[in-house]
Amino acid sequence: MTTGSTKRGSGDERSREERLVADERSREERLVADERSREERLVADERSREEHSGEDVRVRVQQSAGTLGIFDAHHPPADERISDCVHCGFCLPTCPTYALWGEEMDSPRGRIYLMKLGKEGKVPLDDTYVRHFDACLGCMACVTACPSGVRYDELIEAVRPQLERNHRRSITDRLFREMIFRLFPYPTRVRAAAALGVLYQRAGGPDLLERSGLRKRLPARLQAVEGLMPPVKLRGLARRLPGFIPAEGTARRRRVALLEGCVQRVFFSDVNEATARVLAREGCDVIVPRAQRCCGALSEHAGREPEALERARRTIDVFEQTDVDAIVVNVAGCGSTMKEYGRLLRDDPKYAERAEAFSARVRDISEVLAELQPAAPRRPIEARVAYHDACHLGHSQGVRLQPRAVLRTIPGLELIDIPEAEICCGSAGIYNMVMPEAGAELGRRKVANVMSVAPDAVCTGNPGCLLQIRRYLSGPVPMFHPIQLVDASIRGVDPIEARQRRAAASNDARTPEPGRF
Ligand code: SF4
Ligand code: SF4
Repeated sequence: MTTGSTKRGSGDERSREERLVADERSREERLVADERSREERLVADERSREEHSGEDVRVRVQQSAGTLGIFDAHHPPADERISDCVHCGFCLPTCPTYALWGEEMDSPRGRIYLMKLGKEGKVPLDDTYVRHFDACLGCMACVTACPSGVRYDELIEAVRPQLERNHRRSITDRLFREMIFRLFPYPTRVRAAAALGVLYQRAGGPDLLERSGLRKRLPARLQAVEGLMPPVKLRGLARRLPGFIPAEGTARRRRVALLEGCVQRVFFSDVNEATARVLAREGCDVIVPRAQRCCGALSEHAGREPEALERARRTIDVFEQTDVDAIVVNVAGCGSTMKEYGRLLRDDPKYAERAEAFSARVRDISEVLAELQPAAPRRPIEARVAYHDACHLGHSQGVRLQPRAVLRTIPGLELIDIPEAEICCGSAGIYNMVMPEAGAELGRRKVANVMSVAPDAVCTGNPGCLLQIRRYLSGPVPMFHPIQLVDASIRGVDPIEARQRRAAASNDARTPEPGRF
């Protein structure tokens, strides 16, 4: 039994703890502010020295031979890549974090400069330094925008593993990241977590959390995870594709293998089913290897290099046995990493060549369909559909025309572009969970742009974007992966009309779960 004095004692103890935490937080904030202004002065001085020297404006790394500054010797950012940047600033308007905060250090140009300073050993590898790189979404809009061909993608992919190896994150950050990486790359665990999510949703958990005011008290990162969870149905969790789906019709046009994805196969099994159906209708034999696991994309984007490489090797082992013309991916983030296996495994004598060959066969589903002339007849879907370019498809893979071309094979469908299309929606792998405030701002900004074109539906080729945009949509606008619209058109159903009818009947103002109709 709890006595009054014990209660008072624990109350005092709690308020003392709260004061300590508040003091600690304000001390940290002061340190961060000091550190930021010190760094900005350093960078401004350095840049003005270069600008007034009248010499070459490229970002030259000036280091004594043999030193790597704050980086270790395992693939630090390359000097020649850093010096490709000429400070022109053309990348700034497309950078989401520069758009949010207007800080030079949170722009591509500023981050490249920080890499230079890091290589010269002029800045410490501390929380402030790491924060500027953590804030980067890895959206690669700057790669698309840069007229000098700066490979920011290679630079950031070199820096992130360096930070993970050489900087110790705070305990809470490490724990949160561990939770993510012990859950999401394992479909069985995601399925178990999703089943708990079903119980939570059926028991009215989200409403309870809101009404009790508990949601606001949760740490921002947990609020973000909770908010992103789509409505789940138990029967959807148990569904899996068969190992082989034969081509329909007499002449087989391709033999392909399909990546199921980790989150994709649990929350978006409908998208995988639609992909397999369309491929079969278009004359492809589809192999779905049972032994496939996570492709390593999440780990790679977060700089967890050993984990990413191990997953890449395993994926190569599994898919090599399928003897197919192409490895088809319907998740932009996975596809962009799988196309990079050759570079990731360049140091591995056993895998380097195989990884190159593997990457050369990876295709987004829209690339495969754009290559094949449509064989299956399409029926009309009369709707205005806004297409959102997932960054890992548009900026990273350069796949922009194919999804549009494939959607235009649907009669009656009017495709509309979204303003600020080049700016990320804030999903970016695990970004919206580890950087919840920035993720939310970008999510709201994307949704405002989506709604400005008043679409009947929205579609995008990445599950992360589907969840993120849905999270901030306030009306019942249906969302799809493009392949679902192609599938529906071939099957002769109009999913947008069906969705709108159902939403109107249930009087549900919330956007239904993406992918289902
Ligand atoms: S556009 Fe390219 S060259 Fe210009 S500042 Fe940005 S990264 Fe550097
Ligand atoms: S990858 Fe995206 S967020 Fe990062 S610097 Fe480039 S444009 Fe900015």
